[in-house]
Amino acid sequence: MSSSINWHERAAALTIDGRPVINGRRVETEAGQQFDCISPIHGRSLGKVSRGLAADIDAAVAAARRAFDDGRWAQRPPAARKKVLLAFADKILAAKDELALLETLDMGKPIQYARAVDVPAAARCIAWYAEAVDKIYDEIAPTGPNALALIQREAMGVVGAIVPWNYPMIMAAWKLGPALAAGNSVVLKPSEKSPLTALRLAELALEAGLPEGVFNVVPGFGHEAGEALALHPDVDAIGFTGSTRVGRKMLEYAGRSNLKRVYNELGGKSAFLVFPDFDDLKRAAQTVAGSMFFNQGESCNAPSRVLVHESIADEFVALVAAEAPAYQPGDPLDPKTVMGALVDDGQLRTVMSYIEAGHGEGARAVVGGKQARSESGGFYVEPTVFAGVSNQMKIAREEIFGPVMSVLRFKDEADAIAQANDSSYGLQASVWSSHVDRAHRVARALRAGTVHVNQYDEDDITVPFGGYKQSGNGRDKSLHAFDKYTELKTTWLRINT
Ligand code: NAD
Repeated sequence: MSSSINWHERAAALTIDGRPVINGRRVETEAGQQFDCISPIHGRSLGKVSRGLAADIDAAVAAARRAFDDGRWAQRPPAARKKVLLAFADKILAAKDELALLETLDMGKPIQYARAVDVPAAARCIAWYAEAVDKIYDEIAPTGPNALALIQREAMGVVGAIVPWNYPMIMAAWKLGPALAAGNSVVLKPSEKSPLTALRLAELALEAGLPEGVFNVVPGFGHEAGEALALHPDVDAIGFTGSTRVGRKMLEYAGRSNLKRVYNELGGKSAFLVFPDFDDLKRAAQTVAGSMFFNQGESCNAPSRVLVHESIADEFVALVAAEAPAYQPGDPLDPKTVMGALVDDGQLRTVMSYIEAGHGEGARAVVGGKQARSESGGFYVEPTVFAGVSNQMKIAREEIFGPVMSVLRFKDEADAIAQANDSSYGLQASVWSSHVDRAHRVARALRAGTVHVNQYDEDDITVPFGGYKQSGNGRDKSLHAFDKYTELKTTWLRINT
């Protein structure tokens, strides 16, 4: 039981290994450089992590290429790949407490969620793609009688995965699951802010029987290891999750190198629309607060733009303001804590600068707005709700990636849709209305990859996740993601009739 675990004692006993996993073993980097792994909980170093550079990426890509070319994974029968990946998922679940602790220490999320959400979601993702491996059939095209055209999915080769720090394990699993199930080899570059669980995942995969070289992890910085991986001529595809700014670079790197496939999962500024005909405003307020402040607001799909009809706006602001204090940040290692620390000092400063910008532009913080728990040495911000926000303000246009919600007003349905769509992002949206025709009409008009109706928290590996516009060009999860990591091959056979 997690409640009986003394997480502080476990944390004190922990030693971390920050070396890359290349070709099936922990190795030293070529240049031997390291950086401190700072915990956002208290601002102190947890230990040293290797600073992977281009030479280390070269070694990892070469190992992945060898593993792919000799068929040690890609050529195994689907049922055999499935067995290994299911064992990998089991290993993840068996290491639940260790992985949850690493994730919490590394990036500051509450231990209860790392344990109950992140670890099981990562395991389920790997297991779901494992189950898919031997259930996906190839196709025969409806050609004439003198020929047979087979359409087959083939593994692409070496996939580079570059992931962010907000859900380190889940983001890694969303790339690894489909890429490995399809038979590819992978080189994963975790965020320099949260590399620890990715390195453990590589070890667990080896223990589960994944052949050496099939899954390699090189920690390091974006402009060094990340850039080297995205530019590498022997990488066939990049699965990237991160900011829109860096997603743009991914496309440039592909253009400058080998035109590798680039799948970008990027930022968001998701709109949450509340219509006056919705009959349970309290539930809407509870949902938006829960989704906004989950993971300290460091979620790409956080409903950070709340658009409320002007006739109910004051009432709704009061309801949300009443919910927010329940998300006061606490010690992430305390199993009762619901909001933890922001990932680092830089993120704390970014969030505080947006709060200042909100005040500066004339918005009103009805709750929160201050740094918290500074005596801990860690990086905490109060749950913050701004009212009186217009869609032109910086806090309504830019992704803050912290616990800051903006409440805006709309006049009518057309105005609600226009404001919701007036964003460079299009990741998710939510419509709250008790009338199915309105809910359906508005959902269809919203330019977002996912639209929720009268809820925000449903999620499952079976549904695609990704955005319109500058929120990206790929979809993670579901069989659509499996397709991303395969090439389609057509084989024509002549039939003599
Ligand atoms: P980021 O773009 O700064 O970094 C993401 C990854 O890219 C990290 O591993 C980083 O080291 C690497 N990187 C940085 N610069 C690079 C470069 N020049 N070349 C190659 N790699 C480079 O993003 P972040 O701050 O880690 O994460 C937050 C962002 O991720 C937010 O914008 C959030 O919305 C987005 N996100 C999107 C989704 C989604 O599914 N759409 C999910 C989670 C997070």
